[in-house]
Amino acid sequence: MLNVQEVRTDFPILSIEAHPGVPLIYLDSAATSQKPSVVVDAMNAFYRSYNSNVHRGIHRLSEDATTGYETARRKVQAFINAESAESIVYTRNTTEAINLVAYSWARTQLQPGDELLITAMEHHANIVPWQLISDMTGATLRHVPFRSDGTLDMAKLPELLSDKTKLFAFTAVSNVFGTINPVRELVDAAHAVGALALVDAAQAVPHMPVDVQAWDCDFMAFSAHKMCGPTGIGILYGKGELLESMPPFMGGGDMIRRVGLDKSTWADLPHKFEAGTPAIAEAIGLGAAVDYLTGLGMENVHAHEQFIVNYAVEALSDVPGLTILGPGASQRAGVAAFTLNGAHPHDIAQLLDEDGIAVRAGHHCAMPLHQICGINATARASFYVHTTTEEVDKLVAGLHRVRRVFRLE
Ligand code: PLP
Repeated sequence: MLNVQEVRTDFPILSIEAHPGVPLIYLDSAATSQKPSVVVDAMNAFYRSYNSNVHRGIHRLSEDATTGYETARRKVQAFINAESAESIVYTRNTTEAINLVAYSWARTQLQPGDELLITAMEHHANIVPWQLISDMTGATLRHVPFRSDGTLDMAKLPELLSDKTKLFAFTAVSNVFGTINPVRELVDAAHAVGALALVDAAQAVPHMPVDVQAWDCDFMAFSAHKMCGPTGIGILYGKGELLESMPPFMGGGDMIRRVGLDKSTWADLPHKFEAGTPAIAEAIGLGAAVDYLTGLGMENVHAHEQFIVNYAVEALSDVPGLTILGPGASQRAGVAAFTLNGAHPHDIAQLLDEDGIAVRAGHHCAMPLHQICGINATARASFYVHTTTEEVDKLVAGLHRVRRVFRLE
């Protein structure tokens, strides 16, 4: 298990006050995680002592920057057990990683009559790119529905997957329900009809051990900023032969082998997909985040979140009029989105903020999910390695205050 009090000292922001005299309680890690000192220090060290562009220089600083940038790639490779560092493509975030596959693979492969499959619980990042591609190619976009408990309706899979399906793109963990989906089962179902499988792991890689070879997925996308790393960098994992077969997503410097005025050839993987000066400090920060999480142990991270989310689901259930979306704690990652009869989620978030408690309110970039549930918005508390039961107790106390303010008692 994690020593949470010790972990908390790694995150300088946790000792600030949200308002004068009101300590911060950060329950918004699903939107973005806080950063431990080691990550901030690694990025500072880069800018202070070896800031330089990568790959193009033969001077010492450039070599050091290149080493930092490429070492981080190998750390990510080991973290998700990818077969090789060539399978790890730096992007800006999960969204860009999914768009890379959409534009480079799907746009060039799909035609009318083909089908793309997603689920009804996706984040917009795993919906909108496929809508754009379906408009461009004439392929049909279909979705797997979810049941009232926020789990996928697996019984519907056989009628949705067929030899027309070319790609099944789904989230490993819902950012609203918190549902942990059966990734390997879904990947196998896609492969059984000859489709590729793309996993949106934005809410999985930061929170549990992830092994892309065990999942056997063809593509996987995630963001550094949700896993203790900086904003501005994300990862696309892709199987080598697939990435090899795909045309570049963007053109420019660093992604070429030779450029002529009429025609150019491409650099080897993964550089073929990394046009222009990349996010170097951010890659180095991501490498430090991977080291940090590896040091904590992803089994421990997951166990702590399971413990906290169990505690939270039980404690929140005592608040009259409160409904938590999603499945029971055993199938749920560290997310609890809820409604409270008589109080709008935005008002809830604003009142909780007065108590120093940061939660998110709205549709969390999952409008279809909310529409299907018949609600416009939810309030969402999300947990991470530093969350304590005392913080959850304060959330519950804050919600009782919301009820008093709105005279719901
Ligand atoms: N997918 C899921 C499940 C998410 O929760 C998020 C962010 O909240 C994203 C994709 C998009 O991540 P980013 O904004 O870092 O691209």
